[in-house]
Amino acid sequence: MKGFVTHNPLGRVVARRFVAGETVDDAVKTVREMNKLGIHVSLDHLGENTTNVEDANKATGQALGILDVIKKENLDANISVKLTSMGQDIGYDLCYQNISKVVQKAQDYGDIFVRLDMEGSDYTQKTLDLFRNLWDNGHHNVGVVLQSYLYRTEKDVEDMIKLGVRVRLCKGAYLEPAEVAYQEKAEVDRNYIRCMERLLSEGKYPGLATHDERIIEHAISYTIRNRITADRFEFQMLHGVRRDLQKKLANQGYNVRAYIPYGSEWYPYLMRRMAERPANLFFIASQFWKG
Ligand SMILES: Cc1cc2nc3c(=O)[nH]c(=O)nc-3n(C[C@H](O)[C@H](O)[C@H](O)COP(=O)(O)OP(=O)(O)OC[C@H]3O[C@@H](n4cnc5c(N)ncnc54)[C@H](O)[C@@H]3O)c2cc1C
Repeated sequence: MKGFVTHNPLGRVVARRFVAGETVDDAVKTVREMNKLGIHVSLDHLGENTTNVEDANKATGQALGILDVIKKENLDANISVKLTSMGQDIGYDLCYQNISKVVQKAQDYGDIFVRLDMEGSDYTQKTLDLFRNLWDNGHHNVGVVLQSYLYRTEKDVEDMIKLGVRVRLCKGAYLEPAEVAYQEKAEVDRNYIRCMERLLSEGKYPGLATHDERIIEHAISYTIRNRITADRFEFQMLHGVRRDLQKKLANQGYNVRAYIPYGSEWYPYLMRRMAERPANLFFIASQFWKG
């Protein structure tokens, strides 16, 4: 399946709906378009589960390079990184060294923010531990992602509130077993709302990462009722998903950040987007059919 999708030119056409392109220039062009609309960006150089030191160092070099571009081009953007792209599966020390270089450079460039994306539940504790080490070593331009499908997340939210860490709250994109995660959408949504309310009331500039209009409306009415001003949080959405809603919220004066992935390693990212919404499969099928 991977070979078929990635080697077929139409695979690229489909990926372009969710991915800015394969090069830094593609990414910069898309960031500029979003910035013109008053939408902030988080740039993600695609890649995950690196299995050798060379590739982990390469991914680190790419993250360092994009920081140079953000600075030089004066883009309204921060970056998101996956620790498994920087060697989390190979060894703690390697991964820590790599991510430290990235957060240090981001700090030197006037505190560009670095978000550690959250991957499958095998990585949750490892990622939070590594994050904590960065934080304790003075890197406060780093934030985490918590997933409302995990039972543990309510407690993690409280820990992050106590530390004063910026949290991106999402529902979670990986297939997780019932031992660790809610299986019913309604439960995941309820937990999202519980965690979101705590973050809005007590958290540090939370990123509410969802396209769920019901939850977004809930956030808006909760903040109005509790006199939480719009500069204290942001909505986050994925590139290629609900652009209309992104623009609408930005026009209403809310902070909106688009997550913009780019690079050649788009296959696993694209598959997660497909899994979230079966209707996307019809989009793929129609593109292949047209081709
Ligand atoms: C900025 C951002 C960063 C994220 N970072 C992470 C991360 O670090 N770790 C992680 O596990 N997950 C991450 N996710 C993914 C997230 O966990 C969900 O899998 C994804 O956002 C879908 O959930 P939802 O909140 O939009 O709600 P859903 O209930 O899944 O969807 C609500 C509505 O949104 C629309 N929608 C949702 N997904 C799609 C799609 N793919 N294509 C088209 N329409 C769609 C549909 O209209 C749907 O009815 C991130 C999401 C965002 C927005």
